[in-house]
This record gives sequence, structure tokens and C-alpha cells, in this order.
Amino acid sequence: MQSVYRIFLVLFLLSANYGALYAPSVYAASIDTPSSDAPVYVSRTGRKYHRIDCGTLRNSKQEINLGEAVNAGYTPCAVCKPVGFAAVYGAAEYGALIGVPYRVNVGKVDSYRRADLKKMFAARVTRHVDGDTVYITIKDPPAGLKETEKVRMIGVDTPETVHPGKGLEYMGREASGFTKTALLDKDVFIALDWDNRDKYGRLLVYIYTLDGKCHNAELIKQGFAHAYTRFPFQFLEEFRLLEKDARAAKKGLWAGSGS
Ligand SMILES: [Zn+2]
Repeated sequence: MQSVYRIFLVLFLLSANYGALYAPSVYAASIDTPSSDAPVYVSRTGRKYHRIDCGTLRNSKQEINLGEAVNAGYTPCAVCKPVGFAAVYGAAEYGALIGVPYRVNVGKVDSYRRADLKKMFAARVTRHVDGDTVYITIKDPPAGLKETEKVRMIGVDTPETVHPGKGLEYMGREASGFTKTALLDKDVFIALDWDNRDKYGRLLVYIYTLDGKCHNAELIKQGFAHAYTRFPFQFLEEFRLLEKDARAAKKGLWAGSGS
């Protein structure tokens, strides 16, 4: 596998036509989701992809997305540890900060896609409840947080599966299964927003998977959740647009609806 990779890389470097050497299968094994649309940056000559502020980018800086970068054979920079780094090298090497929880409303992160995984704390999803609620375990919890937390994902509402009064709602099982498959027993990164907890004491979070995807956003994109806009959050307008797109594409919840 390694030598195949090297040969491929040599061919790639010798070729003027980068597009002709597109071979996602070679790289698919090294990263969970090569199609991720998270923005990353490359230089004209380098073989690594970077965060926007990486010092190694210097003069030439071109924005592409993670999927394009992976498919073109770029690997994540070990200096700036861009999105996708954790998927390749693991959460431990990523070195997420523990201490003060990262809040996307502070400094006003302008898109969920630009939230900084490096500032989030790492956790493991240890129990699954339904589409928008899970339990996480945090090794060294930041101040104010417990080692085990029941967490509710911010800005989304999935159909009920376990609600005592409502029973099973349309797409509830699918939404629940989507979250279970994506998160259960996985290492994740956690970011917070305005409020730490809801009235039930659940921690309010954004959950990012190791490939840099925001699970909250994925739920809406795939039609497994409404954008829940009753309370303010940093990415409210963006999540609203994601729901609009999911409706237009008749995904999941919207499959049977008119336009
Ligand atoms: Zn870099």
C-alpha cells in the first residue's frame, strides 16, 4: 500500500495534468470522508493542505475543499493540523485543547465549516439516545463539565423515538440510526455556543467527527432534522438554509412533501 502510494505520488509530480491522476480509491482508506466540503488551503508547489493561517503557506494560497485535497493526493499538514488531520492521525495526535471550552459565538465564527477543531475538546460518544441526543465521556473535562455528560445537539430537532407522550414519529428511527452509526463509540470534538445547558441540564453542543464534519449540520443536510431556531445560536441562518436545501432536494423528512 505504501509503495503504491509512493509510485502514485511520483507519477503525480511528473504529470502536468493533475486531473488525469484522480484516483480516490487509493486515498479513501486514509480518510473517513473524502467528499467533505470543509475549506482547506494549498500552495502551488506543496504536497500538504493547510489551515488558512498556516505559516508554511506564505505567498501562494489557494482555497479548495477537503474532498478535492484528498483526491488530489494532498496530506494534512502536521504543523497547522487542518480538518481531516484527526481522521488520518487520530485524536491523540491532534492534541485538542482541554481547559476553557471553545465557544463559536466568541469571536463570532462565521460558518460551522470554519469552526476550529483544534480549540475543541475531545470526547467519546459512549451511549446513544436518539437523533439529537447522546452521552459523551470526557477524559479531562473542562471546568464546569462532568466526566460523563448527556448532550443535546444545538440548532437541530430530530423526530422523536423515545418521547413518552409522542411515541415514534416519521423518520425518527432513521434519524436515530444515522446518529448511532456516525457517533456511537467514536471519538469526537465538542464546541459550545451561547448557553451551556438546557432546562433539563443537558449540555448543549456541536459535535464534530474526526473528518471535520459537524454532525448537527449533517443531520439537517440529510433531511433527518429540522433547523431548531427557537433559541439563538451562532449558525442559525446557515442551518436554516441547510434545511431549505434539504427540503428542495426532498431528503429524508421532506421526501413526501410538495415543493
Ligand atoms: Zn500547515
